[in-house]
Amino acid sequence: MTEPILTIRNVESFYGPIMAIRGVSLDVHVGQIVSILGANGAGKTTLLKTVSGVMDPEKGKIIFDDQEIQGLEPHKVVQKGIVHVPEGREVFPLMTVDENLSLGAYTSSNKGQIDHDRDLVFSYFPILKDRRMQEAGTLSGGQQQMLAIGRGLMASPKIMLLDEPSLGLSPLLVQEIFGILKRLNTEQNMTMMLVEQNANAALDLARHGYVMEVGRIVMDGAADILMQSDDIQNFYLGVQ
Ligand code: ATP
Repeated sequence: MTEPILTIRNVESFYGPIMAIRGVSLDVHVGQIVSILGANGAGKTTLLKTVSGVMDPEKGKIIFDDQEIQGLEPHKVVQKGIVHVPEGREVFPLMTVDENLSLGAYTSSNKGQIDHDRDLVFSYFPILKDRRMQEAGTLSGGQQQMLAIGRGLMASPKIMLLDEPSLGLSPLLVQEIFGILKRLNTEQNMTMMLVEQNANAALDLARHGYVMEVGRIVMDGAADILMQSDDIQNFYLGVQ
C-alpha cells in the first residue's frame, strides 16, 4: 500500500471544557475513501473541523503530505490541498451557482486551472451547468449538495473531507450523489474522508472504515469486513 497522505495521531480537541475528540489516530492513503461512522455527538464533525483548521487541537499531530498542519488557519489548509465540504450544504443562497463555484477557487489565481476545474465540476454535475445563472437558494436539496461538493472541487483538492453528504436526501438522491463520489474516486483518484450516519451507503463507498463513540475510535477495518460485523449490524445498520 502507498504511504498515507493524511496521518492523524493522538488528537484531542475541546469546546471550552468539553473534550470532543479524545486521542484519535487514523490514516488515509492516496486514492482511498475512508468513512468515519458513529452516532450523533460521537465527534465526527469535530474531527473534520480539526483537520481543516476550523478548530485547533489541544494535543496531537496532523500530518498531510509530509508536513505538520495542526493549528494552521483554514485558508492555509485549503492551499495545502484539503477541502472541507461542511454538513448542511452551506451554499450562498443569494449568489448564483457560478458565483458559488468561483468562491471555491478563492485560493487560486490560475485562470486556466479554474476553467479546467469548472469544466470538471460540470462534467460530473451537468445539472449545475444548466443552472449556472440561477440563485443557489432556489436549487433543490440534492442540487445544493452537488453544488457544495462542486465548490469543494474548485479548489483542486488532494483530499476532500465530506460531512454527511447524505443528510436529508431521498435514498435515490443518496445513491446518485454517492455514485458520483465513487466516479470521482476511481476516475480522478480523488482521496476522500467521509463522515456519515448512513453506514450502509458509507461502507458501500469506502475501502476502510472507522467507528467513533464519545470522541474515540472504537473499531476500524476494511469496509466489507465492518459491514459484516455484528456490532455494526446492530448499532449502525438497524439490524436487530
Ligand atoms: P453530529 O452528527 O450530530 O454532528 P458528530 O459525531 O459529528 O455528531 P460532533 O458534532 O463532532 O459530533 O460533536 C461532538 C461532541 O462535541 C458532542 O458531545 C457535542 O455535543 C459537542 N459539541 C459539538 N459542537 C459543540 C459546540 N459548538 N459547543 C459545545 N459543544 C459542542
